[in-house]
Amino acid sequence: MSNEAPLLEVRNLTKHFPVGHGKEVHAVNGVSFTLEKGETLGIVGESGCGKSSMGRTILKVHEPTSGQIIFEGNDITKLSNKKMFSYRKKMQMIFQDPYASLNPRFTVGEIIEEPMIIHKMGTAHERKAIVQELIETVGLKPDHIRRYPHEFSGGQRQRIGIARTLALRPEFIVCDEPISALDVSIQAQVINLLEKLQRERGFSYLFIAHDLEMVYHISHKIGVMYLGNMVELGSSDDVYKKPLHPYTRALISAAPIADPHLAKEKKRIILKGEVPSPLNPPVGCPFAGRCRYASESCRQKKPEIYEYDNRKVACNLYSPENLAKYKAVGKTPEQILAE
Ligand code: SF4
Repeated sequence: MSNEAPLLEVRNLTKHFPVGHGKEVHAVNGVSFTLEKGETLGIVGESGCGKSSMGRTILKVHEPTSGQIIFEGNDITKLSNKKMFSYRKKMQMIFQDPYASLNPRFTVGEIIEEPMIIHKMGTAHERKAIVQELIETVGLKPDHIRRYPHEFSGGQRQRIGIARTLALRPEFIVCDEPISALDVSIQAQVINLLEKLQRERGFSYLFIAHDLEMVYHISHKIGVMYLGNMVELGSSDDVYKKPLHPYTRALISAAPIADPHLAKEKKRIILKGEVPSPLNPPVGCPFAGRCRYASESCRQKKPEIYEYDNRKVACNLYSPENLAKYKAVGKTPEQILAE
């Protein structure tokens, strides 16, 4: 790990959306993490858990309610739109729906060139050369430049969207479910392209998805979100192979396994109940209503974030007091969870 400051540091980020009558949707609640240059942090959780809201708040599409966003050592949390302009080049987004994100009246060449015009980059001649190069980089053909989005397949449109994002030479890209609208056969191609671009250009990705298996393969670290909270954060291997938080364990146990023998051996944890409403989240642990290990203190007070086994985990099972109790009876938290 380098001694340099991380590319991105998110501290206690919170985003609540007012919805009238004094009520608020608690979309993101005190999320913290760091992201190094060239690193991918995969964010997983069920739909509505706050993944996309968090990605958009970091890019300041939404103004944060509280917390801090530090990019390249600079606090950008409270920067005005005007001051954010130069950062917008460096912080970009790839959208879930390639159909909706491309202007149907523009040719592919115009779509890719547009962000460079907005940011006053290069001469018309230089921009055209960059467009040509990007078309090739993302695996499209040179003559595609004069065609319109409706003439392309979903996978090709996502490539156009990626080329448009690359035009600004970003350093940090939020990939918001970039393959979930694509055919399965095309998904691997787009993932391979994103990985190749990261190797060549050193991008950092915040990769939002609900497919845990895919997030595991593409990410260096994984963050698991539940009801706007980051409940577990650690290296991909640790989180995927040795999950700590009861919610992560349930999520991983529910993920489909391609190998039928392994799938047969796998023990599924069935989660009962529903995710609580983000309009009225519980006062204690957000997962308490569905957790078989929930105690009275879990229901009354939100758990702190504990460091355990190279990870951050928001669960009372890993509090120093509980760890001491398990130790006194010669057990580990993993053994307690397996009981
Ligand atoms: Fe379950 Fe309590 Fe941990 Fe929440 S804090 S996940 S309720 S054991």
